[in-house]
Amino acid sequence: VLRRIASGIEPLLGAHPDVASIGLGLPGVVNDRGDVSYPPNFRGWEVVAVEQELRPILRTDLPIAVENDANVAALAEAHAGSGREHRHFLFITLGTGVGGCIIHDGAIWRGATGGAGEIGHVSVDFNGRPCNCGSRGCIEAYIGHRYMSTLALERLGDSRSSSLRSLADSGRELEPKLINEAAESGDSFAREFLADMGDMLGAAIASAMNLCDLHLAIVGGGTSRAGQYLIEPARRSLRARVLRSIADADLRVAHLSNDAGIIGAALLGLGSVGARNTTGPGTRDQGPGKK
Ligand SMILES: [Zn+2]
Repeated sequence: VLRRIASGIEPLLGAHPDVASIGLGLPGVVNDRGDVSYPPNFRGWEVVAVEQELRPILRTDLPIAVENDANVAALAEAHAGSGREHRHFLFITLGTGVGGCIIHDGAIWRGATGGAGEIGHVSVDFNGRPCNCGSRGCIEAYIGHRYMSTLALERLGDSRSSSLRSLADSGRELEPKLINEAAESGDSFAREFLADMGDMLGAAIASAMNLCDLHLAIVGGGTSRAGQYLIEPARRSLRARVLRSIADADLRVAHLSNDAGIIGAALLGLGSVGARNTTGPGTRDQGPGKK
């Protein structure tokens, strides 16, 4: 994996001699030294000192900053996206997994070991569906990409009234994009299903907002493009559930879309935005807008 990452970086270094730093967003918990622990989708990785292993492959003295992938996407939204006007917000990314980050005072809030903000593993049903993390009822176990496809297939059952039935019969995976397309074309099963997912998402977000006194949630990642059929029910659900002190709670779709991770990783290297790699030029926990 690191060699493939390096093969993406090398041509850029060659083409742009003025590159000042390298930033990476990776799945898994990233500690203060930039070590990545147990990324769920990189089989065989346990704890990997990414910066140390990458440097000899790249043969560079440039600062290399490493951060969790949801965290860098949140950082980009804080500086150049939907969170620009806000010092504090919750970021949620809906994809294969459900990642998250709390932006506190303009910087990534990392918790004790760098693993903070994992809203995907907030349970909305303590006896609910089993999650890969070992718990039950985690929001990821419903709206994580593959979980959602499996759940849609289960709920669809033998129903002939939904266009999704024939897609499933033809061997297609019921990915969120297909469910959304069905909802847009008026399929009532798809609309109800997405509304239910949105309701659960809103419940998880409301719990996090109540816990941390957050007034804004920004939802990004591929599944967030499911649009009104998921997002509107999530917004309604969270507004119905937050404490009265958070009555102005809002939910927005991320502005930077798929580029958020790239922009956020680049921002890490600037050193003014909470990058915490010891080899980097900057200091931690400064707010946005410094550079
Ligand atoms: Zn979980």
